[in-house]
Amino acid sequence: MINIKNYESIVGAQAINELYYLGEKLKGKKVKNINSTAVGGGVAEILTKMVPLLNQIGVETQWDVIKGDQKFFTITKKMHNALHGKPEVFSEEDFEYFSQIARENAENIDLSSDVIFVHDPQPIMLVEKRHNNKWLWRCHVDITESSENVYTFLKNYILRYDTCVFSSPAFSQKDIEIPQVMICPSIDPLSDKNKELPVEEVNKVFEEFGIDRKRPVITQISRFDHLKDPVGVIKAYKLVKKYNDCQLVLAGGGATDDPEGIKVYEEVISAAEGDQDIHILLLPQNDILINALQRGSDIIIQKSLKEGFGLTVSEALWKEKPVIASAVGGIPLQITHKYGGLLTYSIEGTAYYLKQLLNAPDYAAMLGRNGKEHIKNNFLITRHLKEYLLLFLSVYNAQDIVYF
Ligand code: UDP
Repeated sequence: MINIKNYESIVGAQAINELYYLGEKLKGKKVKNINSTAVGGGVAEILTKMVPLLNQIGVETQWDVIKGDQKFFTITKKMHNALHGKPEVFSEEDFEYFSQIARENAENIDLSSDVIFVHDPQPIMLVEKRHNNKWLWRCHVDITESSENVYTFLKNYILRYDTCVFSSPAFSQKDIEIPQVMICPSIDPLSDKNKELPVEEVNKVFEEFGIDRKRPVITQISRFDHLKDPVGVIKAYKLVKKYNDCQLVLAGGGATDDPEGIKVYEEVISAAEGDQDIHILLLPQNDILINALQRGSDIIIQKSLKEGFGLTVSEALWKEKPVIASAVGGIPLQITHKYGGLLTYSIEGTAYYLKQLLNAPDYAAMLGRNGKEHIKNNFLITRHLKEYLLLFLSVYNAQDIVYF
């Protein structure tokens, strides 16, 4: 059972008292989060922990998930890709269908809470139904290179919110004339995904999947998505494998709002060309499993082509793992290059760093240790809670908002 008091042992009593103090200031206010999936992906991961913790510190908080069919989520996935800069073609009918589903959801979700906190583009249009309560739009995506058509469509709705929230200062938009604030995502150090695990439990998971812990294991945990570049990871591994004996684990499940997973999974199987040392794992939602895979690996990769934040990087660093990750989106916020991890820009660069870490385990361990300290200081859920509480307060005291 999640208990806010348990975090004192990690961040100190003062940080927890501060949360209660801010929670008290929001007494009587109801907050509702709305997103598009209950499991899979970073947004659901955070809400699962954030919602009970907010309730514990006295802020009545709910979480609703919009409903949509395959056609709706195919359109929203296309939007997601277009926001990340992929050229996608949208028909009038796509936008009409998106609007129709949004309006159906608006009829079925109670939107009367004092603060409505909408996550990502899928539910963005619910704001059409706003009355005199407060509406926040939380953008978890890097929209700096978004395609004009989708951005223009979404901007009409973004401007109806009181405030929007981005994960990195780099994502702010000049032409959005409402307050924009930066709040980074976070990990929960006490969750099943991140808590300490006995080594026997880690070993058991590796045995079950037939992965040999006596030889180096390189792992990327991600939904099977082109933007996570699993095929690029295989190419980097193949460059390294010529020189260093190692195994590669590509593990991920699906998210209910991501219809592309199976197709990408099949592409990954084909790219592996039957190499017995490449383990492609289609996982059920099981946090202990992910935790064990991260803990038992020697190196963690996150070779995303685009990324909102990339929670898997913080998760791995929290476990003191050396991480090689692309310098995209929110990842450079989490990694100080050559101090608390390695930032990469290409397949060749990834292969170069993999070889370096495999040949220099002390250097790898140092990166992991420093990386953990950085995550402890910046990316734990207690910091995130505090910033959300301040955000909710700020919409009632608009003059106190800090702009960037
Ligand atoms: N994750 C998971 N199971 C999987 C793949 C990923 O639980 O099979 C988790 C992962 O550990 C992380 C989140 O989903 O907590 C992914 O968040 P991230 O920000 O890395 O990427 P997103 O999927 O949101 O693009």
